[in-house]
Amino acid sequence: SHFSSLDNKRLIESDKAHYMHGYHAFDEHRQHGSLNITQGDDAYIRDAQGQQYLDAVGGMWCTNIGLAREEMAQAIAEQTRQLAYSNSFCDMANDRAIQLSEKLAELAPGDLDRVFLTTGGSTAVDTAIRLVHYYQNCRGKHEKKQIITRINAYHGSTYLTMSLGGKQADRPEEFDFLTDGIHHLSCPNFYRAPEGVNEAEFLEGLVAEFENKILEIGPERVGAFLAEPIMGSGGVIIPPAGYHRRMWEVCQRHDVLYISDEVVTSFGRLGHFFASEAEFDIQPDIITTAKGLTSGYQPLGACIFSERIWEVIAEPGAGRCFSHGFTYSGHPVACAAALKNIEILEREALLPRAREVGRYFEQRLRTLEDLPIVGEVRARCFMACVEFVADKTTRTLFPEALNIGEWVHLRAQKRGLLVRPIVHLNVMSPALTLTHEQVDFVVDVLRESILETL
Ligand code: PLP
Repeated sequence: SHFSSLDNKRLIESDKAHYMHGYHAFDEHRQHGSLNITQGDDAYIRDAQGQQYLDAVGGMWCTNIGLAREEMAQAIAEQTRQLAYSNSFCDMANDRAIQLSEKLAELAPGDLDRVFLTTGGSTAVDTAIRLVHYYQNCRGKHEKKQIITRINAYHGSTYLTMSLGGKQADRPEEFDFLTDGIHHLSCPNFYRAPEGVNEAEFLEGLVAEFENKILEIGPERVGAFLAEPIMGSGGVIIPPAGYHRRMWEVCQRHDVLYISDEVVTSFGRLGHFFASEAEFDIQPDIITTAKGLTSGYQPLGACIFSERIWEVIAEPGAGRCFSHGFTYSGHPVACAAALKNIEILEREALLPRAREVGRYFEQRLRTLEDLPIVGEVRARCFMACVEFVADKTTRTLFPEALNIGEWVHLRAQKRGLLVRPIVHLNVMSPALTLTHEQVDFVVDVLRESILETL
């Protein structure tokens, strides 16, 4: 480890004194400080005490190719020497940003050939919403701006993207939210569907709710539908089969743009570069991505949109420009990291590998459903979660104050496994390099940790 335990004690005090991190309860932080991570290698991370963990969280749904890749370090170092920074405003560009845009256009489905580079997922989604408004204004549809999203969605932490999100836990009363022009539909979680409703009926209900919402607002006022293919931090919600296709068809009927937020689901997490078309049979108008785009080696995001939108906004002779951009848009070092990351995903065939090991991960995790407090295991490829319930028949949750997810998480941590607790869930999205043996380790440790919690 890099630090002696004395150094670390001092660092933990500094952490408590100066470093505010999101989602850490103030009282807990004040008392315990944080788990200081000092090293990472492939799917493993190590804390300042030298304790090693298999990081089944994958950083934060992002370390797709695994940590400590020498090739990545080299690509980043070389680009830093060559050109550490250059802006992307006005007529400025750089080799790496151009190459990455071309590559993303090639990988994205259909005519999604236009790319705006951002600093992460939140700024990609924010860009997408600005683009929708810009596009509608260019078409003279000045009223067509309302956005429809869903309960339990997560789209980022800027003011706008958090307002688009629909997680109750992210909406404590101390925060304010934008509400104007934002609508939330039901979460497509069949496990929580009303009793007596089968999956086909549940799906019909969701589609009808969407269409009715558009008709209620007025199709001339609805600009876009925004959805994650599989909700991530909302609890790995895998919608009923056909859901996205049906929602997309509703969008087509009412001239509503479909924004697929693939910040988590792209770059192999579901076994494809993008999941929208490959897994869900839709061609969105806009895709937002980040995270696995660089596997977390550099911060970067992208808003990828259709030629159809481009032709409207960039109409020759109209004299417009898109007055939008971040200092770090098209950052050459971040783009170099993304290009090398994509090269590694392709060369090592990590996508087909993820599909194969992902199936094994799904099957093994489902075996946990025999445990008395496991209500449901939801897993698709390298996105997974275990939902804990106090009563399996009624699906009643434990009291929130009990923090059941945290309990299991701490017991797993003791055994060298990190999972992400979200209230009554343990969420996982490990590196795509995970072996069958490591899958077994994750599932076995989870079982022991849950049994210890009973
Ligand atoms: N969209 C989705 C679906 C996400 O899961 C996240 C982050 O978890 C974001 C957007 C925001 O991305 P970032 O944290 O890079 O701003």
